[in-house]
Amino acid sequence: MQDRQFGFSTRAIHAGTPPDPVTGSRVAPIYQTAAYVFGSTEQAAELFQLRSYGHIYSRISNPTVAAFEERMASLENGLGAIAFSSGLAAQLGVVLTLAQNGDHIVSSQNIYGGTVTQFSITLRRMGIETTFAPVDDYDAIRAAIKPNTKMLFAETIGNPSGALADVDALAQIAHEAGIPLIVDNTFASPMLFRPIDHGADVVVHSATKFISGHGTVIGGVLIESGKFPWENGKFPLLSQPSPGYHNKVFTETFGEYAFLMRGRAEVLRDVGSQMSPMDAWLLLLGLETLPVRMKAHVENAGKIVEFLKSRPEVEWVNAPAMGSIFMFGIRGGRDAGRHFIDALELWSHLANVGDTKSLVIHPASTTHSQLSDDELVKAGVAPESIRLSVGLEDVDDLIWDLDNALRIAMASTSSGALRQAQDDKAVVRLDKGESCHPKPATCQDGASVGVDQDVLKPTEGRPSRVEGKV
Ligand code: PLP
Repeated sequence: MQDRQFGFSTRAIHAGTPPDPVTGSRVAPIYQTAAYVFGSTEQAAELFQLRSYGHIYSRISNPTVAAFEERMASLENGLGAIAFSSGLAAQLGVVLTLAQNGDHIVSSQNIYGGTVTQFSITLRRMGIETTFAPVDDYDAIRAAIKPNTKMLFAETIGNPSGALADVDALAQIAHEAGIPLIVDNTFASPMLFRPIDHGADVVVHSATKFISGHGTVIGGVLIESGKFPWENGKFPLLSQPSPGYHNKVFTETFGEYAFLMRGRAEVLRDVGSQMSPMDAWLLLLGLETLPVRMKAHVENAGKIVEFLKSRPEVEWVNAPAMGSIFMFGIRGGRDAGRHFIDALELWSHLANVGDTKSLVIHPASTTHSQLSDDELVKAGVAPESIRLSVGLEDVDDLIWDLDNALRIAMASTSSGALRQAQDDKAVVRLDKGESCHPKPATCQDGASVGVDQDVLKPTEGRPSRVEGKV
C-alpha cells in the first residue's frame, strides 16, 4: 500500500488533501489567514532565513494553496508547484525566476494573444526581448536562440489556432542550447498530456480553464520537473549569490529545489501575485472531476466537429488532434460570424474556455484584438475564425443551437452566402475527403478531436504535429 503509485483519477481527488489532522475535516479547510504565529523568535528567524520550511505570510505560502500546488505537481509529474493569481502571472513568474534586464527568450508564435502582448510589450519594457517563431519551424527556433536566451516557450495546443507542439522535439532543441523548455499546458490539461513526461522543464497553466472547469476562478500555476541543471552557467539568478535573499546561492542551498525556492521566496514574494485560499479551494474541487470532465468535453467536441463538417454553411473546421477547443470558419466571413454568434442561445459569448458551459468567441475582435494583422496570421487566426469551447451540456442541445444560428446567420447576410454554399456543397463538404479550407494552414486531414486515442488513453505518446506552417 505504502509504495503504490496511485492512478491519475485517484490523485486528482486525493493528492495534497489528507483528512485534516486537527479537526478530521475530510475536505481541505480554507485557511483564510494573512499570517501565521511563530512558536518562538528562533523559529521565526529560521523561517526567514529559509533554514526551515513553514508558513510565514500568505503572500508567500498558505496551507490551502499548498494543497492545490501539491495536487498539481502530482498530476503533472513534477517536483513541485507554485500557484499564482492568474495564468499570466504564472508565466511572468517563470520569466522573472530565470531572466532579467538584457536577457532574451524564444517563444512559439502560435500562442494566446495575451501572452504575445506580455512577452512582446511588457517584457520588452523591462529589458527582456522575445523572438517568436512557428512552433514547428525547428530551424527558425534554433536560429533564434542566442547566448543570452533563458528559455523556450510553447503551448501544447495553441490558443486558438490549435497548432500542436511536439514537446519532445522542442525539449531536445532547448536542452542542446542549455536552456529549459516551458510549456503552457492549459488547453490539454494534465489529463490529456503531461509535458514533463516528454522533456519539458516547467509547465504553466491558466488554471482559470479546465483546472477550475466551472468558470469560477482566475488562477495560474507553474510546475517544475526538478531535472534541469540550473548550475550550467546560464542562470546567474539561481547560481550566484542573491542580494534579494541574504546572498544565498539557490542552486547550492536548495539543489533540485533551486528554481522553486527562488520562484517563491523572491519572485512571488516581491511581485505579490499569489493565489487566494478561496480560489485554491475552488480549484481543488474542480480538479476532483478533471478526468471525467475532460473525457466528456472531448466526446461532445467530436460530435460537434462532425456536425459542423457536414454543414454547407461551414467553410472550414480546424480541430486539433486533441482537446475540445477548436475553430471553424463560416461562409460570409466576419459579418456572418457576427450574426452567428448573436443568434446563439445556449452557447455563451465570452472570453474564456474550458468551462462546463459551452462557449463561443470571435478571437480576431476580442482575445487577439491587440495583435496586428501580421501577428494574427502568425498566430493562425483568420479574420472569420470562430472559436468554440465545447461544454458538457447534452450534445443534441448544443447542435440544435448551432444549427439554428447557422441558418439565422445565412439568412441575415446579404451576400447570399447560403445559396452559394449549397451550390458549392460538393466542394466544401468536409466529410468527403476535404478536411478543411486551405485558409488556416494548421488544418489537417481527417482532423478529429481525439476522442478515442488521446483521451481514453491519456498522454500515451505525444500529440501529433499539425502539418504546415502559419
Ligand atoms: N495561456 C493560455 C493558453 C490562455 O488561453 C490564457 C487565457 O486565456 C492564459 C494563458 C492566461 O491565463 P489567465 O487569463 O488565467 O491569466
